Amino acid sequence: MCRQWFSELEPLGISNGAMRVRVGSPVQEGYLQRQCAAQFNEALQAATGRLIPVLFVRNGEHAAATSTRTHPALGTICDDVVISPDHSFENFVVGPDNRLAHAAALAVANAPGQAYNPLFIHGGVGLGKTHLLQAVCQQVLNESPDVTILYVSCERFTSLFIDSVQNGQCGAFRHRFRDLDVLVIDDIHFLANRDRTQEEFFHTFNTLHQARKQIILSSDAKPDEIPDLEERLVSRFNWGLVAEITAPCYETRLAIVAKKTKMRGLHLDDEIIEYIAATVDRNIRELEGAITRIQGHAMLGDGTIDLALAQRALGVTQRDAPRALTIPTIADAVITHYDVKLTDLQSKRRQRSITLPRQVCMYLARKHTRHSLVEIGGYFGGRDHTTVMHAVQAMEDRQRLYEQIRRDVSAIEAALAIHTRPEQRQAHAPSLDDSAEHDTQHQR
Ligand code: ADP
Ligand code: MG
Repeated sequence: MCRQWFSELEPLGISNGAMRVRVGSPVQEGYLQRQCAAQFNEALQAATGRLIPVLFVRNGEHAAATSTRTHPALGTICDDVVISPDHSFENFVVGPDNRLAHAAALAVANAPGQAYNPLFIHGGVGLGKTHLLQAVCQQVLNESPDVTILYVSCERFTSLFIDSVQNGQCGAFRHRFRDLDVLVIDDIHFLANRDRTQEEFFHTFNTLHQARKQIILSSDAKPDEIPDLEERLVSRFNWGLVAEITAPCYETRLAIVAKKTKMRGLHLDDEIIEYIAATVDRNIRELEGAITRIQGHAMLGDGTIDLALAQRALGVTQRDAPRALTIPTIADAVITHYDVKLTDLQSKRRQRSITLPRQVCMYLARKHTRHSLVEIGGYFGGRDHTTVMHAVQAMEDRQRLYEQIRRDVSAIEAALAIHTRPEQRQAHAPSLDDSAEHDTQHQR
């Protein structure tokens, strides 16, 4: 019986980092997932040399979405880049950082040549420019398959132009780039410094624009900040809509991680999703890389993904992971500064040479960690919370009164590099469990 199942399985292809295989029934899906996933994964790894998990999907699930999006005409619109079916509007997570670019791209896709012309999308690497451009291409072709659309990278445009000049085939080049309904050029900033190509592109632009044909461009900088771009091009790029994509905020990152893991068939606890979104904050490509690394680590083990695994997976390459300030770290810095011993700080001794450093510790711990008064007192010799409150108050008074104490405190804070990375202080700290009463007393 099982043998027959296997011959009925239909591979749907690899997308979003997973191999999708269509199965007939929920029973088959459950069985395959439980009993055969490991063998499929191994076979895929052997065949591709990559860690690609298998996902069993039933008719009407992810399968439908995957297959309808593979448009037969796509291959004809570009010959140097493959338009990825993953780069669709459905797969694009909208957040405050890309909302305008997304809305504009959608408007243009639904009415090429009528909404904004040109549409100019700019932003740093890995923020979704290519994704949006390709989403427009797919949407246009899905809506109206007879539209002629050309999607090329700027390098491709440049090299085709240079070839055409050398081969005396400028006519063919012009026909190719001007008899179009939609022209999409990715990374147009590479036009910089190429005078003849800029000249040619200028005429291409004018011809298309006058004929009300849609032009869509992406760039790593806004038009007037692209070095060595002719003024007449700068002004044309500003004719339509210029939309910037900025680095994703935490909420956008959270939504992206949730979506991408779901697309890959990974089931991660919220805690882990939050950890990834909090740790990887530069761009979306790195976010995807982080998910892939975690997936890879999981597949080397037994497949379960917990927080410790995620931390291991990301720890390897996360050079500047947030450094949490802990009570022991603070104590170390104070010990070095005053040349005292930890055992003294934790003892009952009450000489001023010990009580002052101990109070500095309590004050800094209160100021720079989110530990409770009780926890801080506990660490320094089991003292109660009123002692810590007193220490904090005393330190604040003394800093106002004594220059030397102020200097001591700032030297220790400097040693802890507090002033340089203030935003990271609370990243891994435990939550407050003090009563509100204590808090209000100590927040000024
Ligand atoms: P850029 O062209 O700006 O350098 P890409 O479009 O290549 O960036 O995006 C990098 C990766 O991040 C791609 O895999 C893309 O699918 C993904 N990505 C970017 N923005 C989003 C988003 N808003 N939602 C989902 N995936 C995104
Ligand atoms: Mg790109």
